[in-house]
Amino acid sequence: MGKRKSSRKVQKAPRPKLDRVFDCPFCNHNKTVEIMFKKQEHKASISCRVCTVSWETKTTALTEAIDVYSDWLDACEQVNSS
Ligand SMILES: [Zn+2]
Repeated sequence: MGKRKSSRKVQKAPRPKLDRVFDCPFCNHNKTVEIMFKKQEHKASISCRVCTVSWETKTTALTEAIDVYSDWLDACEQVNSS
């Protein structure tokens, strides 16, 4: 009676590389908006390499590029609707 250890390792799915490049709502180009984190300053900046629109926001350790981008879209909508 041999003991059989079943030590199956749980395989973690590889984390998809987070997208840091997004579409620009101003010039309507695709994948031209880049998010750059300034971790030491707890900020992130957005800039479009086509129309050179730029924006900056505060971040936390948990902020992802997609969060910065969606915050930016919200901020743009607020500007447009006022
Ligand atoms: Zn643009």
